Amino acid sequence: MIVLFKSSVTIATVSGIPIRLHVSFLLILPFFALVIGNNIETIAGMAGVTTGELSVSPYVLGLILALLLFVSVALHELAHAFVARSQGIGIRDITLMLLGGVAQMEDEIEERGELWVALAGPLFSLVFGGVLLFLLRPLAASLAADVRLVIYYLGFMNVFLAFFNMLPAFPSDGGRVLRSLLARHTTFLQATRIATSVGKIFAFAFAIIGLLSGHLILILIAFFIYIGASQEYQFNVVRDAFSEFKVSDLMTHEVSTVHPDLPVAELLELMLQERHSGYPVVDDEERLVGCVTMYDIQSVPKDAWESSRINEIMTCEVIHVAPGDDLFSAFKRISEADIGRLMVVQDGDLKGIITRSDIMKAYRLRTLQEEQTRVGP
Ligand SMILES: [Zn+2]
Repeated sequence: MIVLFKSSVTIATVSGIPIRLHVSFLLILPFFALVIGNNIETIAGMAGVTTGELSVSPYVLGLILALLLFVSVALHELAHAFVARSQGIGIRDITLMLLGGVAQMEDEIEERGELWVALAGPLFSLVFGGVLLFLLRPLAASLAADVRLVIYYLGFMNVFLAFFNMLPAFPSDGGRVLRSLLARHTTFLQATRIATSVGKIFAFAFAIIGLLSGHLILILIAFFIYIGASQEYQFNVVRDAFSEFKVSDLMTHEVSTVHPDLPVAELLELMLQERHSGYPVVDDEERLVGCVTMYDIQSVPKDAWESSRINEIMTCEVIHVAPGDDLFSAFKRISEADIGRLMVVQDGDLKGIITRSDIMKAYRLRTLQEEQTRVGP
């Protein structure tokens, strides 16, 4: 998922899912209104209306249609989100931006749920657009020309949205459908690799068509597809590398620990001696009760170092993983919490410690392995 800019505001919440509006949306809305307004004659012709019958000015119609298009995009994303949720995947929010919307999922979807989550959006758009166009026929005679034009164009654009999103230009919906179908015959990473290549071919094709025809939007779409495809592939490479290992494969088993009753002065001495800036705190039964760092010592006045004990000053929250967890979940925890190390704990007992550089070691090992199999005998 592409996160290029982060400035957005929540405008509504639908069934617990915040709908957010990105700043780029404010730029594109008047642009769309203008483009639709300028082409109102063509659109009217398609809808079987003459411009003479319209009572609302073209640019007001343009603005109404631009707004309704973004409502359609929001509904399309909600369809993705609801199906994802039914598969047990949490939805953080839906963000509407420059070129449509993005439903931010809390977990990456594996092959199991991807097909239906990806299909849900285009299916919704197709049905919604189809129903609008279908209803227009019997109702046309009783509706004002402006309303007819709005319903027709909205229906047409939703059907278009469905088809456009179903092009296999990964990471588009169609690209995800392609990946999940490919993943049935090969590994998820290999499927991602193929879908990414197809996506990039589409990106180049869009860019060339955009350049030749002067359609700026198409060039922008090409750019987003290219960046999106590359990012998703990289992410999957990293995840694949980390999923091969367990935390226990790379953790350090021998950990220096301190006892909660140790005086702060002695802790400081130990820190200077062993050059560690933090220690796990372990009680008599070898159970992890917390951890203590240099920062905790700073909160104690110097003349109290002899009398204070670790259990009075230890503050830092213990973020831990289990030895059997895969390395990818350790990587996620360490990145989310933005810390340098994780305690490895099983049934309350400290089993070891794993650092950021241990995790990166796994990535390097895996890359080497892959190079070897490529060159190998
Ligand atoms: Zn979609």
